[in-house]
Amino acid sequence: MASDQQDYYQVLGVSRDASDDEIRKAYRRMARKYHPDIAGEQYKEKFEQVNRAYSVLSDPKKKQMYDAGVDPDHPQQPGFGAADFGGFSDIFSDLFTGGFGGASQRGPIPRQQPGQDALTRLTISLKDAVFGAEKNVEVSTYGVCPTCKGAGSADGSAPTQCPVCHGSGYQQKVSTTLLGQMVSTQPCENCQGHGTVFTNPCPTCQGEGRVRTNRSVGVRIPAGIHDKTRIRLASQGAVGEGAGPAGDLYVDITVAEDKNFTRSDDDLHCWLRVPMTWAALGHAADIDTFDGPRKIQIPEGSQEGDTVSLDGLGVAHLDTSGNSAPQSGARGNLIVHLQVSTPANLNRHQKELLTAFADSYADQGALKQQAKPIERRKGFFSKLKNMFA
Ligand SMILES: [Zn+2]
Ligand SMILES: [Zn+2]
Repeated sequence: MASDQQDYYQVLGVSRDASDDEIRKAYRRMARKYHPDIAGEQYKEKFEQVNRAYSVLSDPKKKQMYDAGVDPDHPQQPGFGAADFGGFSDIFSDLFTGGFGGASQRGPIPRQQPGQDALTRLTISLKDAVFGAEKNVEVSTYGVCPTCKGAGSADGSAPTQCPVCHGSGYQQKVSTTLLGQMVSTQPCENCQGHGTVFTNPCPTCQGEGRVRTNRSVGVRIPAGIHDKTRIRLASQGAVGEGAGPAGDLYVDITVAEDKNFTRSDDDLHCWLRVPMTWAALGHAADIDTFDGPRKIQIPEGSQEGDTVSLDGLGVAHLDTSGNSAPQSGARGNLIVHLQVSTPANLNRHQKELLTAFADSYADQGALKQQAKPIERRKGFFSKLKNMFA
């Protein structure tokens, strides 16, 4: 029999009558806690035990076998088969006492544990995304206990050996099952499995070395950041038990919609409604940009949908290709889309003027019929752009 045979319920820290949901939650918690990437290589075996326990307890068939005392992964194993009930209690006592008490596998749970990551959200304006910003986020998570500075004791003294488990962190418990007496090992209740106790625990954190705190954490928003970006702030997450190293803080950034501009890659776009006369004659117009008011020249003969570009007034290009922090590069453009407004509700004088204009401007080419949208006539600016395209 494999020497690492464990009570799977105990491995996951749940009772024998735990629901599927409780088992699943316990698994997630334990797997996270003991993942070698988080807890370190020394917890690799523990992590494997957790996985093995869950693979059995999450499978209704295997769980049933396991509950009946059959090893679901080796049902035919001599001495462990369902049909072979003789000496079953011996096997169990062998398994659950000598079989898995090895100090190499089980020991007291270290008081110091790595802290968990934390996640928070932050909504910024499009302007902040264009220029970058320094922001603060409020996080409610574990911090080092201010009273004992993480020591856990009121007087700074180190914890002493637990008198109940003599430092092993485990207690043995005898229970009677259908199959006979079963000796199981579980975390010591006196020291919660740590093997040590504080004789004079810190009154603020009760020995945990950490307390829940509200903190304001500064976040640097790089210029050019995109909507739905996750920023990682190393070691700004929850401090671990026993003032263990803090996890990371993740900040999910949402860029709010702006009433004047939309973003497309590194360019900003806006739409400007202009009178037909401006479009026909050309006009200098004042517009708002994130860089303050700017004058744009609406070219003579502009058509509906023509654009005017203000170069370099867009969003900084965010380069995330490097291993270091993202670099903000040159800015994109601000593209102004012209929407030509046809005059309406003209008075008699205006109608006369426009009629006189119509008589003088015999644009026969304007009237055209075809099955598909007619490609719009290019204004001067668009022509210029096409020349360089
Ligand atoms: Zn103890
Ligand atoms: Zn404390």
